[in-house]
Amino acid sequence: EYGPAPEANEEVSAWLKARAAGIGHFIGGKFIASGKERFATVNPATEAELARVVQGSEAEVDAAVKAARGAFAKWSKLPGHERARYLYAIARHIQKRERFFAVLESMDNGKPIRETRDIDIPLVARHFYHHAGWAEMVESEFEGFSPVGVCGQIIPWNFPLLMLAWKIAPALAAGNTVVLKPAEQTPLTATAFAEICEEVGLPAGVVNIVHGDGRTGAAICAHEDIDKIAFTGSTEVGRIIREAIAGSGKKLSLELGGKSPFIVFEDADLDGAVEGVVDAIWFNQGEVCCAGSRILVQEGVAERFYDKLRRRMETLRVGNPLDKGIDVGAVVSAEQLQRVSALVKQGEEEGCTLWRAPGVLPERGYFFSPSFFTEVDPASTVCGVEIFGPVAVAMTFRTPEEAAELANNTRYGLAASIWSENINLALDAAAKVKAGVVWVNCTNMLDAGSGFGGYRESGFGREGAREGLYEYFVSDVEKALKPAKEA
Ligand code: NAD
Repeated sequence: EYGPAPEANEEVSAWLKARAAGIGHFIGGKFIASGKERFATVNPATEAELARVVQGSEAEVDAAVKAARGAFAKWSKLPGHERARYLYAIARHIQKRERFFAVLESMDNGKPIRETRDIDIPLVARHFYHHAGWAEMVESEFEGFSPVGVCGQIIPWNFPLLMLAWKIAPALAAGNTVVLKPAEQTPLTATAFAEICEEVGLPAGVVNIVHGDGRTGAAICAHEDIDKIAFTGSTEVGRIIREAIAGSGKKLSLELGGKSPFIVFEDADLDGAVEGVVDAIWFNQGEVCCAGSRILVQEGVAERFYDKLRRRMETLRVGNPLDKGIDVGAVVSAEQLQRVSALVKQGEEEGCTLWRAPGVLPERGYFFSPSFFTEVDPASTVCGVEIFGPVAVAMTFRTPEEAAELANNTRYGLAASIWSENINLALDAAAKVKAGVVWVNCTNMLDAGSGFGGYRESGFGREGAREGLYEYFVSDVEKALKPAKEA
């Protein structure tokens, strides 16, 4: 049984109360809450409505693009060190309000406060600091390159503020202006972020936030005066976007889904690898694009490893995200819970054996027990499809060759994690796995200074570090071949 959870802190309650009339867009430096169509954002741990948010139409997208275009001429010409000042200021303001952002994010998304406090929000600040550094060096390090222009950015609900940071920080460092659409399930921290842009005096129109669902996203993709689309989300929507903008001349980067292998060799530190699984698939309720959702264990240690995993699962605490003692929070929405449950049922029907954490779930809220499947056929649905919930599939292999074969038996190629005490074996396996990121004896390590992105149906383009910045530049040679758009 899990105890009652603490309430939201006073600052967050006051913030929500002050916006009870509706959460608006941020366009050209102004908050605009007009518009008839509104949608609710719900706390997935309590099912209570947190706020009503305006749904952006083509008109708001157009106004945001015009504001971004207007701001681009000046912003792109600022010396890099001046743009850096704004990015440093944003980072500092986020740090100052870390606690507020962590609580708001946990309430809107359902993820444990321990994670928003120790991971999401510090990484957001780090991303802006990192890119402030790059902004200072743009002239020397990116000679012969210019900013792309107005960037349309569409993000998912699993790391709402962090995905915003991954999009906005490099775009601004390079001299672009942006129109960003948060996911409709988690619009709140993006709005608080817009308030920080205002506080630091960021020139109006450099950052524009338009709320709404897929229709608003589609309007961004269709807008003629957008030069680049950056999307993070499902492979299905990524495919729709790629088709929608084909032939438009827009630059595109896609960060999509994954079904990443987590390979445990028989000489691995098994207790360490068990903790690795906790971080790989139960962190953030498994709603992680690079989650280690396919556990591959060498045959000789498989039963021992599963046994350790089951025992560890018994100690995981599932419950209200605002409780500091909680390991696993709520799934983001009723819809997502339904999707995860349906896939798990299908796995059982396909003959896989399900192991569920034994704790009793709270009565209200969209909770799902941490779980994993054994006796999994590589051809089964649960082995191929990204569940995007706290559920892994586990399989065994005999040789390193077989491990690599199983690891690559996927349409994705985002990440991989390899566990062995033999560094030669681990590095040899790392070279054989087709994935954008490979971790050895660790997992889900993300850093602004290291490029992140996928192969195959996990998308293309990189985020973070120098590689990520190239996504927000065009070479002057390339630009000379295209008619200029800036005023
Ligand atoms: P989703 O694709 O349904 O939605 C993502 C965003 O796209 C949302 O803002 C949504 O409103 C918008 N959208 C929906 N339809 C659209 C359309 N037709 N045109 C334009 N925009 C549209 O994904 P989701 O369910 O919110 O997020 C989960 C998915 O995101 C998972 O598959 C996960 O793996 C992936 N993801 C990938 C990464 C990565 O870096 N590779 C990171 C986080 C999440």
